[in-house]
Amino acid sequence: MPRTAQRCEITHSQILFGVCPWCDVIIGQVRSQIRVSKTHTQWYPKAVAEGIRSDDPTVRETTVSGLWHGWQLDDEMLGVLSNALRHRDRSLADTAAMVTWLGASRLDDVKAEMLEIRCDGGPIELPARIMLLAFHIGAGTRSDPKSSAARARHALWMIEYAPQCDVLGLIGSITTDVEDSGTREAAKELWDRHLIQLPHDVRVLKNAAIFFFHDDPDRALRLLRQAIEVDPEADTKFLLNSLEEIQNRRCSFTAPSVFDYWKDWKLDF
Ligand SMILES: [Zn+2]
Repeated sequence: MPRTAQRCEITHSQILFGVCPWCDVIIGQVRSQIRVSKTHTQWYPKAVAEGIRSDDPTVRETTVSGLWHGWQLDDEMLGVLSNALRHRDRSLADTAAMVTWLGASRLDDVKAEMLEIRCDGGPIELPARIMLLAFHIGAGTRSDPKSSAARARHALWMIEYAPQCDVLGLIGSITTDVEDSGTREAAKELWDRHLIQLPHDVRVLKNAAIFFFHDDPDRALRLLRQAIEVDPEADTKFLLNSLEEIQNRRCSFTAPSVFDYWKDWKLDF
């Protein structure tokens, strides 16, 4: 983990104006009419993009982690995030996915409409979809039929075109629990196809396992064991232990009730 001074050395040149997320110092000339709040950071997209392209993993990680603090929503920054989301360094891609997901907290209906237009097969479709999915999962929108349809549409696109994305681990149970049976079936078919085509992809196995756990826990546990066979160092071990524990609790909950039923039935005679 880099020290603050090392992070600042990387981050300060990436900030156009605003607050450094590591040391809280205000950097750069305020060239716009926007008042710089204590938490506002306007990034210099070209410098951020360069940080993400760096061969040094510390530079890359510091660059994307700095965006936890917030980032300006425009096509240029979405393009920068899009490259981070597709980075060969999957840990970096995971951080970028969470940064993009959290960025949705600043969306409103108008901004969401603007992002919908970006879901057109262009270079920023992936971050746009992640944000829209997060937006429509957001509190208070679940019962709205328009949001529900949008959530299903974006979730299915994510499963089809970005099955390795960490965000799918977050929404796995949501797509299983909430959406209609047609959406669930479509999602299942997509996962089945991925599992045939990518049986050794630990990320696909993990995301599929989270999706299947609700309806088919045994299959989910098998997929996670398969992932550990492929890569014993994979971080799926913790998930497997947690899901096994949930499953055991479910079983131990069912067992006494069956026993009680049998006992009551016997006592009737
Ligand atoms: Zn700093």
